[in-house]
Amino acid sequence: MLLVDHALMLARLRAPVYHRCPKKGTGDTPVPYAGGVAHPALVRKDTRMSLLSQLADVDVIDLTAPLSDQTPILQLPPPFANTKSFSLTEISRYDDRGPAWYWNDITTGEHAGTHFDAPVHWITGKDGEDISQVPPAKLIAPAAVLDFSLSAAADPDFLLEVSDVEAWEEANGPLPDGGWLLYRTGWDARSGDQREFLNANETGPHTPGISVECAAWLASRPILGVGVETVGTDAGAAHSFEPPFPCHTALLGAGKYGLTQLRNLELLPPQGAVIIAAPLPIVGGSGSPCRVLALVER
Ligand code: MN
Repeated sequence: MLLVDHALMLARLRAPVYHRCPKKGTGDTPVPYAGGVAHPALVRKDTRMSLLSQLADVDVIDLTAPLSDQTPILQLPPPFANTKSFSLTEISRYDDRGPAWYWNDITTGEHAGTHFDAPVHWITGKDGEDISQVPPAKLIAPAAVLDFSLSAAADPDFLLEVSDVEAWEEANGPLPDGGWLLYRTGWDARSGDQREFLNANETGPHTPGISVECAAWLASRPILGVGVETVGTDAGAAHSFEPPFPCHTALLGAGKYGLTQLRNLELLPPQGAVIIAAPLPIVGGSGSPCRVLALVER
């Protein structure tokens, strides 16, 4: 059985999810809980065995950018407020503040580095899920990888159009139901440098994205969301589109998700990878830094 089929089967087995109820008198009665794990009785032993044995033939590819005070972050022009960069504040490092241990506090924006956009991030999705409410089963999903890195190299303002996606589907099959559209532009090669990554001049940032028409069309498709290599899911120039920021507006408004600052997409096949995207369950959060892994059959 294909890995994708396995992932989707497990996702179905996981719904609903349970944890053991701690209340006195209710014993081990399972109760639904969005942050829990699959109830063992819902996962058949032979399913677990075959999945484990299949993982021996799977490459795990890290799509996550390293998170440090050098990680590029979004810069909005005045009068808009900006997010904080990621940073560490040392608590102790094997010294009088803690002789045997090293640890830090972290400061970070929800939208720093490789991160997950929840629907509530945008005004069109304000009644939708916050990041803690994204169902766990949706954090494991198949992906289609659309490579437009040559187009983006020729034009940093390149916009993906409906016809591009239709031509891609003609060659590679339909976008996966309940899966990610991962949009490769080669922009991850610039992620070591904030200036190159944002690529701004006097007219604002110039980074590839998705056209207004295509964003609206994708929002009507049964995909889980869109993942990109740039600082946000929208093009650098999307502030002056009509409507502005069409990916955020249409996709988050449709209850779909965003993934940003991905890398290593060139290591994935056009179809067949399984993505594990694991944001922190920040209660009320609009997004979260996220570890994104791809499982690819050898
Ligand atoms: Mn974001």
